[in-house]
Amino acid sequence: AVLYIDLDNFKLINDARGHVVGDALLKQVTQRLLHTLREVDTVARISGDEFVVLLANLSDEVRTGAHMALHVAEKIRLAMMQLFEVDGLQYSSTCSTGVTLLPRENQTADDILREADTAMYRAKSGGRNQVVFFETGMQSEIELRLTMERELSQAMDGGQLQMYIQSQVDRLGTPVGGELLMRWHHPQRGPISPAIFIPVAEESGMIIRLGDWVLRQGCLALNQLAGAGFLLSLSVNVSPRQFRQPDFVDKVRLVLAETRADPHHLIFEVTEGLLIDNLHDTIARMRELATLGIRFSIDDFGTGYSSFSYLKKLPLYELKIDKSFVQDTPGDKNDTAIVQSMLSMAEHLGLRVVAEGVETRDQADFLIANGCSCMQGYLFGRPMPLDAWIDLQRK
Ligand code: C2E
Ligand code: CA
Ligand code: CA
Ligand code: CA
Repeated sequence: AVLYIDLDNFKLINDARGHVVGDALLKQVTQRLLHTLREVDTVARISGDEFVVLLANLSDEVRTGAHMALHVAEKIRLAMMQLFEVDGLQYSSTCSTGVTLLPRENQTADDILREADTAMYRAKSGGRNQVVFFETGMQSEIELRLTMERELSQAMDGGQLQMYIQSQVDRLGTPVGGELLMRWHHPQRGPISPAIFIPVAEESGMIIRLGDWVLRQGCLALNQLAGAGFLLSLSVNVSPRQFRQPDFVDKVRLVLAETRADPHHLIFEVTEGLLIDNLHDTIARMRELATLGIRFSIDDFGTGYSSFSYLKKLPLYELKIDKSFVQDTPGDKNDTAIVQSMLSMAEHLGLRVVAEGVETRDQADFLIANGCSCMQGYLFGRPMPLDAWIDLQRK
């Protein structure tokens, strides 16, 4: 059998200041995997925190084989639920696992991996921290993804994609910047969330084309804003795969030259996932882009590897506190403490903070009282087309 294991989010249990945890956590995950498995089994790390396990010599009898695979997968699931400890700090995570039994006729290794991966996605969407077996009915999910890939490609050519802008405001509620967010208006299915299609694009590689397009749209939007008299910073989401393409810096240079947009108003939002692999190259590339005038923001801060000490090494301008932390402030004690410590750490490092997903006045007041300089969320405005945004500001 093949198990596809993806760690869900690592969460900090107690407080943290300045520790490298990325590699140390991964090491512990690997140790736990190896500890659960037999010598005949094989583990491979696919990427970041995704692992594939090949269980050898299971029973030929399907039901017994399935039973044994489930047993191992459950053991792994329970092993991951134990707290992790790095430098005296405790972390928790769960994992989602997809299982496929080996192999049916004419199946390639790719087919098998895709099946296990598909089952893993079911485990995620079913609420995480669970084991799901691949079933033939799930084939449709693979097809669904392939269809979406094809349609996404058509969408780009057919003008179904559009960039929206959402305000980022200061303490007084005045817009100081905006984030560009993609929207897909599907002709039959209506609006599709980028939370659904970006991962598909990322996995299929289409994110490269999509990212090129977004980058150009960002520059054009900057020009349009400047032309309308708004000198704001504009944030563009850059996916890990997009950032890692070898000619990314050249592409950025080219589009800046072609559009004549001012890079000093451009902010690239990258996620912590980018920092797991090749930190050295990542830093070098960020520096190169920074010399053009582009600034960097860490998106969804706190949801990935909380590698605080990396932050010092990176040429960063800003940190975005993920909305999952903001959501339950100021009521929830843990989240309140986490947000406060993020704010004081950012201040210490001289970083601007944008709090995401601010929906209530109470949240905003709490953030302001704790020194947060910039907020983004439905309280201050939904994402909307650029024209509509400009009209609204003029009212
Ligand atoms: P993100 O970068 O974390 O973007 C913030 C998300 O929070 C957006 O979802 C935004 O509409 C939503 N949001 C804003 N204010 C609030 C609020 O007050 N409450 C709540 N509950 N949500 C709020 P959206 O637009 O659906 O985008 C989802 C994700 O898709 C983004 O998360 C980003 O990771 C990705 N994405 C969107 N556009 C692009 C893009 O052009 N390129 C790339 N690579 N990724 C993109
Ligand atoms: Ca993961
Ligand atoms: Ca973002
Ligand atoms: Ca975010």
